[in-house]
Amino acid sequence: MNWLTRIFAARNQGAPRRPVRIFFTNTLSGEKELFVSLKPGIASMYTCGPTVYGPAHIGNLRAYIFSDTISRILMAAGYSVRRVINITDVGHMVSDGDDGEDKMAVGAKREKTTPKEIAVRYTKQFMEDLSDLNIVIDDIRFPHATEYIKEQIALAKTLEEKGFAYGLPDGLYFDTEKFPGYGKLGGLSRASLEAGARVEVVKGKRHPGDFVLWRIAKPNDLQQWDSPWGRGNPGWHIECSAMVRALLGQEIDIHTGGEDHIAVHHNNEIAQSEAATGRQLAHYWMHNAFLNMGGEKASKSLGNAVYLSDVIEKGFNPLALRYFYLQAHYRTPLSFSWDALAGAANGLDRLWKIVREISEDSKRASAPSEARENFLAAMRDDLATPQALGILWEALRSEDYAPEEKWGLIEDADVHLGLSLLNPPSSAVHEEQNIPEEIQVLLMDRGKARSVKDFAEADRIRGKIERSGYHVDDGPDGPVLTRTTL
Ligand code: AMP
Ligand code: ZN
Repeated sequence: MNWLTRIFAARNQGAPRRPVRIFFTNTLSGEKELFVSLKPGIASMYTCGPTVYGPAHIGNLRAYIFSDTISRILMAAGYSVRRVINITDVGHMVSDGDDGEDKMAVGAKREKTTPKEIAVRYTKQFMEDLSDLNIVIDDIRFPHATEYIKEQIALAKTLEEKGFAYGLPDGLYFDTEKFPGYGKLGGLSRASLEAGARVEVVKGKRHPGDFVLWRIAKPNDLQQWDSPWGRGNPGWHIECSAMVRALLGQEIDIHTGGEDHIAVHHNNEIAQSEAATGRQLAHYWMHNAFLNMGGEKASKSLGNAVYLSDVIEKGFNPLALRYFYLQAHYRTPLSFSWDALAGAANGLDRLWKIVREISEDSKRASAPSEARENFLAAMRDDLATPQALGILWEALRSEDYAPEEKWGLIEDADVHLGLSLLNPPSSAVHEEQNIPEEIQVLLMDRGKARSVKDFAEADRIRGKIERSGYHVDDGPDGPVLTRTTL
């Protein structure tokens, strides 16, 4: 049980258990559906993870804030959530298709090291990004594709034995014609496949949609393993099918990813898994819309990507990015600009300020309220975060609710939104303590220096603060200032 589940278990003790109704838009049906888990009280969720050949850009991070929000809603409703986010460290080609160069090899060459070293470097970075964004990771498993080669080979072998695969000189391919439901996710027709968007130049491929399960190694491939088809490496899609099965089982509740995964990656996962087991891989497929930059999708290859480190370097709290995403519905494309992020940062600062006032007025005692019910209903209605934020703001500003009712709402909002509402960071702290503005500025500059690991500069600023009569301690919720004798 992780901390969120524990908080809610404690809070719900003795309360009458009403069935909680949660609705999600399922890409499989194209409709909003009532969530019913396969096992009572347990929800299993697989999220397609990053290819760790470089840092994840903020568009990628939208996908993980999205799946974190789903998980928070489920946990708050009493589910025990079993989660996997895979780490792709082999097999994902630059083209997203079956040919070209492995992204890990590209990363290794760029940084003059090995794919393994690149994977370690950027997995660490990814985990740091997730925790900076307050994503609950305690109970998530993060398997690497290279740790599940045996399982991927076994799955490909099953598909071959069942007649769903055929061999070509360069590898083993999945025969999409043999799988009648191919393309069912997102209602992809064969005609649209034939239209050529995905035609890759692989000689002998029977259909443009057919995809590689096992690739025969090219002489200078940096990562290769023995297999029944010769030395080589796995295709990209097979890792998810194999790891879902190994870690969560043949059938799971929820599978998530960005909307770009619908057409190919997720349809291919469905084809492989369902052809092998005869069971439905996932009952709810959920996809986040893209983050765009100036009208184009944010992407490393387009060279327009912004990273969380850029956000921090510019002095923003990473949670401002989280707030920016929550202001829009996950199925709505969102345009990034630094001005829009500054607007979100401002909104979050104001929210933290009002929360601190209510914290004092309510003495942190909470009471139920209609606003709290409405907030929960919005979150459970397909993650209607813009509406939920609207309800939160309106209630906190309203004179109609007692401070305790407002505090109860803040507690629920904190758990669902992950915006550190119960422990607003330092910017709100020093405002409350009547710290002179020049000290606040110094404290902020020190925070910026620390966030980019410029500890020499941070120490220099600390010295200045101390000489002005304040002592700085770094507590779990940010720096705490105490006045020293002047
Ligand atoms: P990748 O590392 O490319 O496999 O992507 C990791 C996750 O980010 C996947 O779920 C993608 O669908 C998602 N993703 C990629 N680009 C964007 C974007 N610009 N906006 C939102 N999600 C994205
Ligand atoms: Zn996947």
